[in-house]
Amino acid sequence: MKKINVVWFRRDLRLHDHAALFHAIHAGIPVLPVFIFDQHILNELDADDRRVEFIYQALMKMQTALLKISSSFKLFHSTPLECFKTLCTDYDIEAVFFNHDFEPYAIKRDDEISQFLISKGIKVNSFKDHVIFEKNEITKDDGLPYTVYTPYSKKWKAALTSSSLQSYDCEITAANFVHIKSPEQFPSLHELGFTEHATIFPGTKTPVEILRNYHLTRDIPSLDGTSKLSVHLRFGTISIRQLAREAQSFNEKFLNELIWRDFYASILWHFPQVVNHAFKPAYDHIQWVNNEAMFKAWCEGQTGYPIVDAGMRELNATGWMHNRVRMIVASFLTKHLLIDWRWGEAYFAKKLLDFDLASNNGGWQWAAGSGVDAAPYFRIFNPYLQTLKFDPELKYIKQWVPEFESFDYPKPIVVHEIARAKCLEVYKEGLQS
Ligand code: FAD
Repeated sequence: MKKINVVWFRRDLRLHDHAALFHAIHAGIPVLPVFIFDQHILNELDADDRRVEFIYQALMKMQTALLKISSSFKLFHSTPLECFKTLCTDYDIEAVFFNHDFEPYAIKRDDEISQFLISKGIKVNSFKDHVIFEKNEITKDDGLPYTVYTPYSKKWKAALTSSSLQSYDCEITAANFVHIKSPEQFPSLHELGFTEHATIFPGTKTPVEILRNYHLTRDIPSLDGTSKLSVHLRFGTISIRQLAREAQSFNEKFLNELIWRDFYASILWHFPQVVNHAFKPAYDHIQWVNNEAMFKAWCEGQTGYPIVDAGMRELNATGWMHNRVRMIVASFLTKHLLIDWRWGEAYFAKKLLDFDLASNNGGWQWAAGSGVDAAPYFRIFNPYLQTLKFDPELKYIKQWVPEFESFDYPKPIVVHEIARAKCLEVYKEGLQS
């Protein structure tokens, strides 16, 4: 059997500017691209989860390019360990290449697979790809991780060199890939247990005008004023290096948002306990009210607060919500309704196409006041003032809650002033206990 190298694709579904693929190609042995529909992950999802469709579409696109050079993906629908056992029987593998993933499940999975491969005498090579700086690349002068964004972002910018944003030139040629004469058919989405919606997802190209005006338009939810690239960043269908270069030349504010993404990824890596606990331990003492009926009203966009309901309806209908509105609905759930941020975080995790553990957890803990660099607990967004400021003509509200001025629309489930006073009391008590 001829030796091959395996590139294991996960949250990096592209054939260009891909660190692991670049290094595998340059190792000089034909590359076999592998993707695993991981049953550990898929079994937790609903059949109509559109993220699986997004992944599927991305793989099909890559497969089309691979077929053109007489190669193919090797696709599995199983657990990673079972797949690698099969691969090791079917091929003579020199090395496996993949990109880092910092979510706790992924770290455990990659450790398990790496140990297995090493026990078989196969080399394991892993790379930074999904962020610009990772692990301990940006730390305080004493070597400890930053927990405040502004100094982190300053150090991030100071550390940037031309090589930090340089793309990996991956040559997709027949010579570089394993030749596969008769590739297996891709299983259909239906065969994988998922519904086909033929969803048209946002494109990978943001009009330059949006990036140029980003600092002016990013906070107005009725405008097409943000990149809508989050789902592509989540699944790696675009390269963060390429996007950061564009950000550098078009809009510093946009670059700053990409730095927030790196920041939260670094927080998750340094402080994995944030997955289940408040970053600031005192916040784990807050006595949440956790009223299930109120939670349901929030999920369904029936709270009687139009800006909150518009956001939740946008999320339920599209799998995306504007960042300003994410902040408002998260603040409303944790502070007005005194519902544990983990409930909201889990709901977002189920619904968001761009769900990313690090950014979602960071966003929720920011809103609840319990996270790194979070809003102080006594800063409670007033949904009416937020509306006046960011949707003064009610355009966004009218789009998602057309009945908001009619009798059909529910009365507010809590009164702002009363909810605010109760929040201050409950938070204070929790933080002092
Ligand atoms: P743009 O404004 O165009 O920004 C460009 C990119 O920068 C985004 O795609 C994203 O990758 C990154 N970015 C922007 N803002 C942030 C931020 N505050 N934190 C981290 N990265 C950011 N983002 C996710 O990608 N996945 C999540 O699961 C997620 N959950 C969130 C939950 C809450 C409660 C909050 C307040 C924010 C959350 N965000 C999350 C951050 C942000 O809302 C989205 O990244 C953004 O709305 C995506 O739209 P966009 O691509 O048009 O963003």
